[in-house]
Amino acid sequence: MNRREFIGSSAAAAAATAVYGWPVGMEAQSAARPIGIQIGAVSFLDEGTDNVLAALRDMADINMLFLATFTYGRGIGGRQPHGTPLPDHGKQEYDDNYHGGNFATPHPQYYKNTSIVPEKAPDHPGYDVIADVLPRAHAHGMKVICWFEDVFRKDVAGLDKAFEIDLHGRPAARVCYRNPNTLNFWLGLTEDYLRSYPVDGLMFGSERQGPLNTALGASHGGAATPATAGCFCPYCLEAARKEGINVERATRGYLALERWVDSLKGGRKPADGAFVTFWRILVEQPEVLAWERLWNEGLRDTYRAMYRKAHEIAPAKSMGWHIWHTNSFAPFYRAEQDYAAFSEYSDFLKVVMYHDSGGPRMARYIRNVNATLFADLTLDQTTELTYRVQQYGAEAPLDKLPTAGLSADYVRRETRRAVAGVTGKTRVWPGIEIDIPTGEHEKKSTPDSAYQAVKATFEAGAHGIILSRKYSEMKLENLRAAGRAIRESARTA
Ligand SMILES: [Zn+2]
Repeated sequence: MNRREFIGSSAAAAAATAVYGWPVGMEAQSAARPIGIQIGAVSFLDEGTDNVLAALRDMADINMLFLATFTYGRGIGGRQPHGTPLPDHGKQEYDDNYHGGNFATPHPQYYKNTSIVPEKAPDHPGYDVIADVLPRAHAHGMKVICWFEDVFRKDVAGLDKAFEIDLHGRPAARVCYRNPNTLNFWLGLTEDYLRSYPVDGLMFGSERQGPLNTALGASHGGAATPATAGCFCPYCLEAARKEGINVERATRGYLALERWVDSLKGGRKPADGAFVTFWRILVEQPEVLAWERLWNEGLRDTYRAMYRKAHEIAPAKSMGWHIWHTNSFAPFYRAEQDYAAFSEYSDFLKVVMYHDSGGPRMARYIRNVNATLFADLTLDQTTELTYRVQQYGAEAPLDKLPTAGLSADYVRRETRRAVAGVTGKTRVWPGIEIDIPTGEHEKKSTPDSAYQAVKATFEAGAHGIILSRKYSEMKLENLRAAGRAIRESARTA
């Protein structure tokens, strides 16, 4: 389908005004329920900016764009990666040379206090996604939120001066939140977006967790890797000493965790079992837990500083956070995502509730922790334990989980929990998935699964919604089905 033929630009803007009664300009729609979608530069270039905006309005009443403005990753930038089918729109070609970076234009004056060199994404020479999309989105009655995340290429100039230091004193190819180069880079980007463009808000995401959770392998990502636990850089050691945390005992505790994981991986279960041995490490070296808190405080201090900076510059504009999918699987990570505490420095939370890919991802999480902390249990027992502590209802047994996905009931429960958790003015805009790539025989999105998830979101009291992860991976029939649920929920609201 050729979107260029879909509808002309001025006609689209006029249609938006006619249907929604919104004049050009944002004031009149400030009370509208946010119906957001995540979208990257490539979609506007492939399909034409006005065509895309008109189509999003037409298919799902979208009134807020979460523009992928900074990332080096493929999750929210670029087209589908090789090996996953291209959807039924956009250029039918893989962008294997995807690079990433800042998809707008970095202004050097905002990055004076960081070693990390801001880089304009070289993917689309001469193109600035905010400069292109923002005025046209406003003309269509849509708000624009800059959406940026902590995903770098290892070779970004100056990044090495911000790296975490792992348990064995080696630099890790990820940034330490307590390193001033990291903090000043995020503050620079915050200021750059808000001062250089009249955008409507910001959303930042960090899909990372602390050293204890890393040591346990408590996520849907890679298996347990205690050797890479961090951070033990001079800034973190200094912060620990200030907090009165015994650094030597923390290190000893993580080394003990490493031996524990290695022996379990080698099929040698300790005589006392996996769990008791783990708990002994914790009670003998409670600094293991203190180090997990220290890591989280580094991230939370970053959130607080970004929020403060954003509101100094633009008090009326929204700033919020993407909350990683691990929140749905691991009680350890979930305990660290306290929505009430978040509310002090959040205008909105995008709590990720990807239900289709949630199936295979949950299965990977269960296998990961069944190899470490819950090695005393069977896989089925670990599955049951996880569902119960996460307050889920009847989800699929482990062997069916990758093909069944998680249910709309999971979305309903997670939405309710988030709405009940936030306080004050903080809004909950769940991240609902459409067509996140999964393995060959794993659950795919369907019109019905998209429809049911969106319906559940609003039935549970969500204040808005963010269709995720990116338009360039969504099939139009699934997006339209989400749109049907959005319209029905608007009528019953
Ligand atoms: Zn550090």
